[in-house]
Amino acid sequence: MIRKKQGKGSIGTQSVWGGEEQSSFFQRSTQIPVVHSVSFGYEDMDEWQEVALGQKEGHIYSRNTNPTVQVFEEKVRGLENAEAATSFATGMAAISGTLFALLSPGDRVVSIKDTYGGTNQIFRRFLPKFHIDVDLIDTHDHKTLEAEIEKGCQLLYLETPTNPTLKVVDIDRLSQAAKKVGAIVVVDNTFATPINQHPLTLGADLVIHSATKFLGGHADALGGVVCGSKDLIEKVYHFREINGATLDPMAAYLLLRGMKTLHLRVRQQNQSALTIARFLKQHPLVEAVYYPGLTDHTHHEIAVKQMSGFGGVMSFSLRGGIDAIRQFLPKLTYAHRAANLGAVETIAGPPRTTSHVECTEEERREMGIPEGLIRYSVGIEETEDLLEDLDMALKTLEKRSEKLR
Ligand SMILES: *Cc1c(COP(=O)(O)O)cnc(C)c1O
Repeated sequence: MIRKKQGKGSIGTQSVWGGEEQSSFFQRSTQIPVVHSVSFGYEDMDEWQEVALGQKEGHIYSRNTNPTVQVFEEKVRGLENAEAATSFATGMAAISGTLFALLSPGDRVVSIKDTYGGTNQIFRRFLPKFHIDVDLIDTHDHKTLEAEIEKGCQLLYLETPTNPTLKVVDIDRLSQAAKKVGAIVVVDNTFATPINQHPLTLGADLVIHSATKFLGGHADALGGVVCGSKDLIEKVYHFREINGATLDPMAAYLLLRGMKTLHLRVRQQNQSALTIARFLKQHPLVEAVYYPGLTDHTHHEIAVKQMSGFGGVMSFSLRGGIDAIRQFLPKLTYAHRAANLGAVETIAGPPRTTSHVECTEEERREMGIPEGLIRYSVGIEETEDLLEDLDMALKTLEKRSEKLR
């Protein structure tokens, strides 16, 4: 053991140091090396057997465990205050792996209508094939959610804030309902990040991240991670180990490097997003702004109760609908027009083309996603520059509506 064991530290310190202290694999390197090796060799047959059986620490084969990947898992585990964590090739692999690992035919899942587009597809198209019932409830309707949970279910699946309309669900309240019927509570914490929200301390059993987004933060690596009790994570890990959606060591390295600035990025994004949401809110060409930090957001109070920051993502709709969006989006200087979020650069795009492209127009309407919506993921640029950029792009719309008059 070369690395010194460090104390837990506050969350920002954990973002920097967490998980990096433990492995004797890495000798004196101050940064975690990328171990590309598929397998790990043993001369001593007894030691090999012990490691293979999990009786001794070590690695056998990288589909199961890998030193670089393990450090990534350990860092996220620390940030989420969990007993254990396991990782996946993508966020969707983490979500589907968790669901398929824990559910059996005849089980019932209660969830919300506003889950991420891919998650929604698993609920609507894949789980029913395996005779697992899924009831998707209006996201804002806590009373109906409680009533549906009370009827009995094996798993409650939540996401908050939601993608793309930033609805907020009360994790504590719904977890209590789930506990009464013995259901496992799973929360997708991608939008909030561990800097802004800790689902496990609010009663959830498992917390999932698309590490592709804020955790990595640089839009250059895909990954997913699940944190929770040793018991549950063991089941999820076993499913992934066999099914094979393993996180690549190079991606794990990029995610680890990104996470060292997680707290700095997210704090900046929280601040910028709130300022920008307030600016858009008062703009005459903006029809509606969805951001939990706004005091008139339907669930602002729940957000204040369970989050320490409101996150870097918002959405808004323009007067003039899809035509206005067509004109507006290309005018932005500081935004990738792309299907992603949570990066250091600002990213803007319509959910009908990005997160919810797999859904039919009908399904989007049912989920309350207007066709003329823009999702705006605030990067770490200076707030003033982003405000100016938005203002300028909105001014070209003003000119256009004058011409039309
Ligand atoms: C992007 C995203 C996912 C899926 O993650 P991938 O890494 O793209 O598979 C899941 N949940 C939320 C909230 C997301 O934003």
